[in-house]
Amino acid sequence: TKPLYKWRRVLLKVSGEALAGDHTQNIDPKITMSIAREVASVTRLGVEVAIVVGGGNIFRGSSWAGSSGLDRSSADHIGMLATVMNAIFLQATMESIGIPTRVQTAFRMSEVAEPYIRRRAIRHLEKGRVVIFAAGTGNPFFTTDTAAALRCAEINAEVVLKATNVDGVYNDDPRRNPNACLLDTLTYQDVTSRDLSVMDLTAITLCQENNIPVVVFNLSKPGNISRAIMGERVGTLIGG
Ligand code: UDP
Repeated sequence: TKPLYKWRRVLLKVSGEALAGDHTQNIDPKITMSIAREVASVTRLGVEVAIVVGGGNIFRGSSWAGSSGLDRSSADHIGMLATVMNAIFLQATMESIGIPTRVQTAFRMSEVAEPYIRRRAIRHLEKGRVVIFAAGTGNPFFTTDTAAALRCAEINAEVVLKATNVDGVYNDDPRRNPNACLLDTLTYQDVTSRDLSVMDLTAITLCQENNIPVVVFNLSKPGNISRAIMGERVGTLIGG
């Protein structure tokens, strides 16, 4: 029989901003709980879910670099540590509702989480565990979007699902232009040439080179995460 889902293994990218919502603190526990519930509903059907978390709700290296004598590498190290905080929060939330979850960090913090080991990550997924990849790529000057593209390619996931606070990619900034319209599909070329600020160039190029489609969708609409994971049409589909 045909499975109910489209992708067998997905890479869900959750930005720090999406985790924060409009909560006054850095993380909104209602959001982490809704992510956990929706991920639980699809892992039960057999879809393997890996997650890359951002850290922009706590610290963004690029906006701090230069101030108070902070060099970019140090600022980015702090940014990567911020993603680990989000990862542990999300892991604890997932496990509180019974989803076995492992955090793997791109640099060693072995008292807190496993180090990133590709084959081990794949093994966890095969056993039905959720794997959260933290600390980005482990290198300064990169972003967690690039980490999402990289890990997706490494673990042979079929798609990057980019959860954001907007419905998808628009042809103009919807906050400034009320006539801006949501785009259903885009090519990689559209994204790189039209400066649509979907992802940084490093991330989108890595997706293009590896034929990884990217779905940009709104995390705050109930049901959207499971819809995106199940391969239903939500948001904007890039590539494909
Ligand atoms: N970062 C980094 N290398 C990486 C990924 C992230 O140095 O491979 C740092 C960088 O300082 C970045 C911060 O971690 O600003 C948080 O990540 P990002 O801004 O991508 O998070 P998001 O926008 O998804 O919340």
